[in-house]
Amino acid sequence: MAGEFDLIERIRARTVARGDVVLGIGDDAALLQPPAGQQLVIAMDTLNAGVHFPDDTAPADIGWKALAVNLSDLAAMGAAPAWCTLSLSLPASDPVWIDGFLDGFDALARLHDVALVGGDTTRGPLSVCVTAFGLVAPGMALRRDGARIGDDVWVSGTPGDAAAALAQWSAGAPRDPALRSRLDRPTPRLALGLQLAGLASAAIDISDGLLADLAHLCRGSGVGATIELEALPVSDALRAAAPDRDTRRALQATGGDDYELCFTASPDRRGAILEAGVGAGVDVTRIGRIGAGAEVIAVGADGAPWTPPRAGWDHFSG
Ligand code: ADP
Ligand code: MG
Repeated sequence: MAGEFDLIERIRARTVARGDVVLGIGDDAALLQPPAGQQLVIAMDTLNAGVHFPDDTAPADIGWKALAVNLSDLAAMGAAPAWCTLSLSLPASDPVWIDGFLDGFDALARLHDVALVGGDTTRGPLSVCVTAFGLVAPGMALRRDGARIGDDVWVSGTPGDAAAALAQWSAGAPRDPALRSRLDRPTPRLALGLQLAGLASAAIDISDGLLADLAHLCRGSGVGATIELEALPVSDALRAAAPDRDTRRALQATGGDDYELCFTASPDRRGAILEAGVGAGVDVTRIGRIGAGAEVIAVGADGAPWTPPRAGWDHFSG
C-alpha cells in the first residue's frame, strides 16, 4: 500500500532494543537467540474494530490493548515476555494514526522490555494482530490442566470493571474514566504470573468472563468449581456504576475484557499466594473451590445457585 515503507520506518524507529534480537525489522524475517534451556511460549490475538474495541477508541489505546491482551496470555502461562510481531490491516496509510497507535503500543512494550521484531502491513478494515513470544523454564508453565479437587480458586484485581465500561458505552450513559481505562488499557498481570509459576496448579486470564474462563480451566483439568459471589472483590468505581447487586454480579461473573488472572492452588499455598500478590503489586482474592463434576456453579450468600440475568444493561441508561 502507498506509504507502507514510511509506516514501517516509523514502527522500526520506536522499537525496544534487546541483545537477543540478532536481526529485527527490515529483513525477510527476524533472527532471535532464545536462552539455552528455556521453552518458547507463543500467543496470538487479533483485535477487530467494532468487535474487540468500541469504534471511538483512541489509536494509543488500541495500540496498548493489542499488545496487552497477548502479554496477558503469556502472564497466564507464567512466562516472561521477550519479543512480538505485529500485523496491521489499515483502511488508510495514516502516519498520525500510526504514531498514536505506537504511543500506546510502545509504552507497554517498554514497560515489559518486549522487542517488536517484525510484522506485516496491509490495506483493509482496521484490524490489529499481535503474536507475543515469551520464555519459561521447562515444567514451570501455568497450564489449564493442573487444577485438583479441593484446590482454592483465586482471582486477581477487581473483575467486572471493563464490562461496566463497555455497558456504559453501549447504553450511551456517562462514562466513568476509571472503568474506561480498565477497558482500554488492561494491565497484563505478568509479575503475578511469574510469581505463581510453581505455586498455582492452573491458571487462565479472563477475557471472556470469569465463569466462562473458569469453565475452560475446569474442562482442561476435568473438574468442577463453586464460586462464592459475595467473595468477588468490587472496585469503588464498579459499586458506584452498578449499585444494583444483580447487575453488578452479572458484570463481575460474566463480563469479559478484564485480563485479570483466575488461578487455582492447593489450600496449603494460601500464605504463599498472598505473598505473591504483594510481591506483584496486585490484590489476589480467594473466591471459591474446585470440586468434583464438570460444572462451574456461582452461589450467593445463602449458598443458593445464581444464574446471570440475560439483559441487565438498561440499568446504565438512567
Ligand atoms: P516482505 O515483503 O519480505 O514480507 P515487508 O515489506 O512486508 O517484507 O516488510 C519489511 C520488513 O518490515 C519486514 O522485516 C517485516 O517484518 C517488517 N514489518 C512490516 N510490517 C510491520 C509491522 N506492522 N510491524 C513490524 N514490522 C513490520
Ligand atoms: Mg510481508
